Amino acid sequence: MLIGAHVSTAGGLAKAVARGEQLGCDSIQIFNQSPRMWRPTAYGEEDFAAFREAMDRSRVSAVIIHAVYLINCATPDRTLRRKSLASLTHALRIGDAINATGVVLHPGARKDAPLGPAIGRAGKVIGAAVAESEACPVLIEQMAGHAGILGHTFDEIAALTEAAGGGDRVGMCLDSCHLFVSGYDITTIGAIGDVLDEADAKVGLDRLRALHINDSKVPFGANLDRHENLGKGEIGGRSLGLFLSEPRFEGLVATLETPGPAKQGPVRGDIAYARRLRSLGVKARDRSRAGSSG
Ligand SMILES: [Zn+2]
Repeated sequence: MLIGAHVSTAGGLAKAVARGEQLGCDSIQIFNQSPRMWRPTAYGEEDFAAFREAMDRSRVSAVIIHAVYLINCATPDRTLRRKSLASLTHALRIGDAINATGVVLHPGARKDAPLGPAIGRAGKVIGAAVAESEACPVLIEQMAGHAGILGHTFDEIAALTEAAGGGDRVGMCLDSCHLFVSGYDITTIGAIGDVLDEADAKVGLDRLRALHINDSKVPFGANLDRHENLGKGEIGGRSLGLFLSEPRFEGLVATLETPGPAKQGPVRGDIAYARRLRSLGVKARDRSRAGSSG
C-alpha cells in the first residue's frame, strides 16, 4: 500500500512532490487547479516534465488528481454540464501528462431531480471525458450520502459506471470516512470483508484504484462528510488499522485528507501513524486467524 497525503501545488506542480517527500509519503493527491474556481491553471509541457523528473527522484511513486469541486456531471443545467465536461477532460489530460493513477471525481448532485435520469446524465459526461482523453482513469468517489449527492452506495456507483460506458478507465475511489457515515460498517475484520464483497459483486474490485484514509467527526450513518484526524474520530485507530490492512487493498494508493494538528493538512507524524495503524491491523488479523484456526 502506498500511503501518502493530499498536498498543495502552490508554487508549481513539482513542488507537490517535494511536499510529499517532506511528509514521508509514498503517494500524493493534488488538485489540478483551484478546486473552487473554473479557471484552469495554465500548466505546460515544462511543468509536466519537471513533475515527472521530481517523481523519478522521489520516494513518492504515485499521484492522484482530485477534480474540481464545482463539477456537476449530473445537473440538468446544460451550461454547467458543458463546463463540467471541459473541466473533467482537462483534469484527465493532465493526468495523462503526469502519469496519474487516476482523477478522483465527485460524480454529481441531482438535488430534487429523479435519480435514474441524473445517473444517465452524469454517466454520459464521464464517458465523454474519457473519450476525449487518452489513458488516465476517472475514479468515481464513494460519497458521504448528503441528500441529492450521487454515489454514496455501491448500487449507484455501479449504475454510474455502466452509464459511463463501463470501460476499464472508469474506476472507483473508496473513502473510509464516507463509507462509515454512509452506513457501511468498517469497524471489524468481518464487516470490512462484507463491505468489500458487496463492492466486488456490484462494482468490481478491479475498478478500485485509490483509497482516502480519514477518520470521521460524526457517527456511523450520519451522512455528513466531516473528516477527522486518524484515531481521533468515531471510527477510531483500531478499526482504521484493520481497514488499512485489508488484504484486498494491497498495493493501492491511499492518501490522507485529514485536517492535521494545525488544520493545515496532515503532517509527517500523521503519515507515520497511518503506517503504524496498518501494521497493528496486520497483527490483529494474524491473531484473529490464529485464534480461529486453533
Ligand atoms: Zn473527494
